[in-house]
Amino acid sequence: MHEINTTLQLRNIVMKSVNTNEAHPEKRVFQALRIEVNRELEVLENTLEKIVDRLNKNGRLCVITFHSLEDRIVKNKFKEMSKKCICPPDFPVCVCNHEKKVKLISKKPILPSKEELKVNSRSHSAKLRVCERV
Ligand SMILES: [Zn+2]
Repeated sequence: MHEINTTLQLRNIVMKSVNTNEAHPEKRVFQALRIEVNRELEVLENTLEKIVDRLNKNGRLCVITFHSLEDRIVKNKFKEMSKKCICPPDFPVCVCNHEKKVKLISKKPILPSKEELKVNSRSHSAKLRVCERV
């Protein structure tokens, strides 16, 4: 067993390990490591509601994500914050005291246009979601 000390070493390991036609399969490995080391998904989930709490009425929060796991967190958190009640549906009365904090401005994610994709290739995985403080 050897220590991996450089990104080039890690890249070479990835290149030997995966069977793909992708030009840069190491990119996804580097992205996964970055997301995990920075706890990006956890930070994202914990930060969205804090931001919403600081918005004025009718203030909008717009979030662009570049990864499906990030988008899922934004989608679910926005949905949760847009509900008055989050009790299980079979509860006879509401016991959650949940507060509706936002309305959803975009129910589906807003995707880059063809024009945007032509001039900005990095936008291809971008998804924009917008909510408004109530
Ligand atoms: Zn409830």
